[in-house]
Amino acid sequence: MIPTKIFRMTEEEPDREAIRLAGEVIQRGGLAAFPTETVYGLGGNALDPEASRKIYAAKGRPSDNPLIVHIADRKDLDRLVREIPPAAEKLIRCCWPGPLTIILEKSGIVPYETTGGLDTVAVRFPDNRIAQALIRESGGYVAAPSANLSGRPSPTTAAHVEEDLGGRIEIILDGGPVKIGLESTIVDFTEGVPVILRPGYLGQEKLQEILGEVNMDPGLLSETETQVRPRAPGMRYRHYAPRGDLKIVEGEADAAAGEIRRRVRKHLEAGESVGIICSEETRDSYPEGDVRCIGSFADEEAIARHLYGILRAFDDKETQYIYSESFFTPHMGQAIMNRLIKAAGHQVITVQQKGDVNG
Ligand code: AMP
Ligand code: MG
Repeated sequence: MIPTKIFRMTEEEPDREAIRLAGEVIQRGGLAAFPTETVYGLGGNALDPEASRKIYAAKGRPSDNPLIVHIADRKDLDRLVREIPPAAEKLIRCCWPGPLTIILEKSGIVPYETTGGLDTVAVRFPDNRIAQALIRESGGYVAAPSANLSGRPSPTTAAHVEEDLGGRIEIILDGGPVKIGLESTIVDFTEGVPVILRPGYLGQEKLQEILGEVNMDPGLLSETETQVRPRAPGMRYRHYAPRGDLKIVEGEADAAAGEIRRRVRKHLEAGESVGIICSEETRDSYPEGDVRCIGSFADEEAIARHLYGILRAFDDKETQYIYSESFFTPHMGQAIMNRLIKAAGHQVITVQQKGDVNG
């Protein structure tokens, strides 16, 4: 156990001294967690193989799952990669700093420990002033996966980080709850047409507006994880998982609510604990069970922001069964449902009409 120091601050009033201290920790090979606009990251020196090994150990993460290198200056990208194709340059100009990670061929300075043995590297320039200041204080290149234990939902508050990594890392910079709450969109530029390896705040439509042709990794679309393997190693694991048995109920709203109510009743009769994830609009459809409202369909950013916190809350209460409505919202729906379906281990119940159930 190492004592974990936690420093509270806001983006408007960052604690310069704490950030400098965290930078020192990273410079000498240690680990510090910090807020970004997407989720909290667990940072170590990206150019130091030993620091990357420490990150894998602290998270309990398989070492073939590569880390994203975070920078705080566009120019620092040049040293990390062999070349920057025009399409990547164009996207960077539109979306950095922001929730976009790009994959390019790596240069010699990036150790294989950081890229999980791959010849490509993932790079992001986060849009959070605490993160940016820390990256500068750390020497410019911070490898940072989400600051959760492997297999748990990504952390959207410093309390989540402390829950998972307290006693395992030296410092947590607490910048309050994050703005987006889902991990960055990952776009691979190493094979001609750009490919989305992980959907995020920036969706396929938006990327197509900027770049023209953009494909979705077919591995993300397959029904089960065994048909086509996702290209991002991390998307192959059962990630973002709550401890309880989570199932998604899909279909027309009234029919889905009816199906969830019926199942909740059965669990309660059997003396089992059961939770429900629903929208503000459907909340009143559920008279029993532990009902968690994720947000309004009119505010999809709220739905994204609340997802991981709700999954963690069910873990805290050791809820045995969880049913979630589906949230195919216009822009972030792809990303929200990608995370939710993975959290559910692909257990989706499709309700065609009232009383007609598949799956
Ligand atoms: P996290 O560390 O939780 O932010 O997740 C990082 C994601 O980026 C994982 O799904 C990784 O597999 C993926 N990733 C990182 N580097 C690469 C790379 N070079 N090629 C493909 N996917 C990558
Ligand atoms: Mg992660």
